[in-house]
Amino acid sequence: MKSNNKKTIYIITVVFALSVLLLPFNALATDSEIYGTLTLLANEDLPPITYNDNGTSKGVAVDMAKAIGKNIGYDIKVLGVNWEQAQQMLQNGEADGLLHINPSPERKKLYDFSDPLLKSDFSMFVQIDNTSLRDINDLKGKIVGVEPGGYPSVLLQRYDDIAIENIYNWNDSFKALSGGEIDAIVVDRWIGEYELANSKIPGIKIVEPPLETQYSRIAIRKGNSETLTLINSGLRGITDDGTIDKIMEQWQGKRVIYLTEDYLQVFYLRNASLFLLLVTLIALYFVWKYRKLSKKLEASVKERTEELIHTNEKLKVANSKLERISMIDGLTSIENRRAFDIEYSKAWKISLREGTPLALIMIDIDHFKIFNDTYGHLSGDQTLIKIAEVIKDVIKRPGDLAARYGGEEFVVMLTNTDAKGAATVAEEIRTKAEGLGIKSEQIKSVITVSLGVASAVPDSTMEPNELIDTADRALYRAKEGGRNKVMVWEGRKS
Ligand code: GH3
Ligand code: MG
Ligand code: MG
Repeated sequence: MKSNNKKTIYIITVVFALSVLLLPFNALATDSEIYGTLTLLANEDLPPITYNDNGTSKGVAVDMAKAIGKNIGYDIKVLGVNWEQAQQMLQNGEADGLLHINPSPERKKLYDFSDPLLKSDFSMFVQIDNTSLRDINDLKGKIVGVEPGGYPSVLLQRYDDIAIENIYNWNDSFKALSGGEIDAIVVDRWIGEYELANSKIPGIKIVEPPLETQYSRIAIRKGNSETLTLINSGLRGITDDGTIDKIMEQWQGKRVIYLTEDYLQVFYLRNASLFLLLVTLIALYFVWKYRKLSKKLEASVKERTEELIHTNEKLKVANSKLERISMIDGLTSIENRRAFDIEYSKAWKISLREGTPLALIMIDIDHFKIFNDTYGHLSGDQTLIKIAEVIKDVIKRPGDLAARYGGEEFVVMLTNTDAKGAATVAEEIRTKAEGLGIKSEQIKSVITVSLGVASAVPDSTMEPNELIDTADRALYRAKEGGRNKVMVWEGRKS
């Protein structure tokens, strides 16, 4: 299997090497098939059929001549010269033939013609709005441009009263036609259309149908039948093998557009409108994009603002919760000393302004130390909670306040209340506390409280602390007086 592969590779390599080596010999063999040279003369200015481009002959007929040469094994040289001169040169025997010439009776006397080469539709080109020139008879009395020595020239010379104007430059003549200096141009439609397509001269149309349709040929000096046979065989060869079609396809690639002023105006207007439309669309696109972006920004700002408001509200709630917590006593759940200080200060100012009495009740549990020592701190705490509940229960009026003052001491603040009223409240607390019936064996009794009451109508000479001191002093008297008592201190009367 492996040796077979090697063998194949070896054979391929040898065949390839031999082909490369023999390549120059193949080329030589082709070169050696050239049997002779033929020189054809062509019009130097008949694009795209025959024309000179920087000294080189080009055009569809030139390509055909070259193809014929290749087909018959002849080197065909094409020389582009002045067309009248070309015909003269052939007469003088300076060339073998004329490339692309239409037979006329006059010409048939001078040359032998090959089989047809190219179809020539000799047509009238006139101004676009001209409707009076429709056929050759309408050209009488008109100025008509034709190529000197060309077939249309031969054709029009048969009519006496057509003013023939020789064309030496296609571009200038079509401009002259467009400007109204001449009335018509008669030329092979392909040549005229080719010129109009290149120069884009506006305002010209072709008149249908063509004046005459002819088939151009290669003309050979009379009697040179050997060359004629050769050329005809080449012509057949390139027709049969499709070479002619390929050449035609190559040269007919460009479509001709007849430009009218109206067309140009519409063309420019349409392009300008399209451009404006494009600019508008681009502008609209950017406006749309900007709006979208700003809407997005707006939405995100709104979202952030709402978030902030929400967070702020949450913070406010948390803050007020904290504020409340900071005012509440952890054990008894009634207001603490801090809350009392704040509320007492406010109430003092209101009473001072309104001239209303403000009362304080200071409350202290009797023999609480012994109770704690006997029943333990936890039982003491439970008792504190119960006493606090009693006090809270008695204090119901809005604006009044019950707070834990510290340790086992409580304070009650009663707004717009005189000493007598406060004493009543104090007595109620005392009774209810005793009524709890919390046993304390060491003192052979139940838990009781002592209360000191003070009330005053604040004035500018008084300090808020004075009322607290007074209530404290009243409490002290209650303790001194045997405990489980309410003592009232009547302002500064003492
Ligand atoms: P008096 O009748 O003279 O007031 O006698 P007392 O024993 O109550 O004396 P005082 O008021 O000086 O006693 C304070 C006692 O209160 C000390 C402590 O054992 C108790 N006490 C203070 N704060 C707390 C507390 O938060 N919990 C408990 N369980 N006991 C407390
Ligand atoms: Mg105490
Ligand atoms: Mg006490």
